[in-house]
Amino acid sequence: MDDSAVVLLPGKDKAVRSRHPWIFSGAVSRLPPLEPGEIRSVLAADGSFLGSAYFNPQASIIGRMLAFDRTPPLDALRAALRRAVALRRPFFAGTADTACRLVNGEGDDCPGLIVDRYADVLVLQISTLGMERLKDVVLAELESLLAPRSIYEKSNLPSRREEGIPSREGPLRGAAPEPVTILEDGMTILVDVAAGQKTGFYLDQREMRRLARTLAPGRRVLNAFSYTGAFTVAVLAGGAAAADSVDASAKAVAAARANCLRNGFASGGLGFFEADVFEFLRRESLDYDLIILDPPAFAKHKSEVVAACRGYKDLHRLVFEKAPEGALIMTFSCSRFVDEKLFGQVVFQAALEAGRRVRVLQRHRQAFDHPVSVYHPESDYLKGLVLHVG
Ligand code: SAH
Repeated sequence: MDDSAVVLLPGKDKAVRSRHPWIFSGAVSRLPPLEPGEIRSVLAADGSFLGSAYFNPQASIIGRMLAFDRTPPLDALRAALRRAVALRRPFFAGTADTACRLVNGEGDDCPGLIVDRYADVLVLQISTLGMERLKDVVLAELESLLAPRSIYEKSNLPSRREEGIPSREGPLRGAAPEPVTILEDGMTILVDVAAGQKTGFYLDQREMRRLARTLAPGRRVLNAFSYTGAFTVAVLAGGAAAADSVDASAKAVAAARANCLRNGFASGGLGFFEADVFEFLRRESLDYDLIILDPPAFAKHKSEVVAACRGYKDLHRLVFEKAPEGALIMTFSCSRFVDEKLFGQVVFQAALEAGRRVRVLQRHRQAFDHPVSVYHPESDYLKGLVLHVG
């Protein structure tokens, strides 16, 4: 048996044999001395070869698979990056859109790596030490595939703490980008990569913005948790009669107003509120025909699920209590730990408490450029419902 390889416990090779990329510390029987983040071969207890993974003994997900065969791991990573870029190309070929998620971590066989494209700027987000050590390989491949003007790093995820690596934000190639103008479905949005949330924009809601646009004609819309107002611009482009945007961040509210202006929406019927959404819902009469609820993840950790569900329930109850008859609600949860079933239960409980007739018209997930590997359902995080309140 290869002395430098990591060996799994008997029976604990099932997940890896099923192409699941994560190896938990409890599955390992022999961990040879290694530098945190180093790549090693992975063997089953009987010595059979399973592939290669990078390892960080400090993290509870101790290893993440880069190859499930004998392909050299760096070649596997380069091939995965090429596949990820090729996957998106045909979807955007016939459009003027200039922003998409190019690499979606485990969903693109690149564990620990997110790459978003905003026009000719790439934003890289690395969540693990193993991927951190592979940064140069990733950068070289992205440069040769896409020749971007600049590559900016936004590795500020809380998971880095568990991995024992500090947050890092700054330019990797080229200068620190000024805010970038992107095009999505004919809308122009200014994305502040450096100062914005996530990598700058919520690309995962593209299809929902499109849906909101088709539901908008003639409707009075509330966009709650509006961030830079992308949903607001979408409903206005779709012919909404009026649109109010609410966000707790003053900067986000200013950006939402600017994005509306940028798209030619400056006249009456637009309201921008720097406010806590819960307070706004309590205070206002909610005379809207379409209400969009796109809050941040209320549960960023498993231990926060109960509190998160309380938050989701309160939010929905406040809306259900006041929404006019016939109102449509587009509601989302991006908490990975609140699954679709639990989210449905929360909505059910809120409807029951509000005593309203609530129906599900449609169900939605994250946009297509956020693929989920069938072997790794954990990366399926965004759930959406279109509800009708009777
Ligand atoms: N719908 C947006 C993304 C929303 S992100 C889009 O498509 O681009 C979540 C937003 O909620 C953030 O801008 C954050 O500032 C805001 N937020 C978080 N908690 C809030 C609260 N209690 N009240 C109002 N806004 C809140």
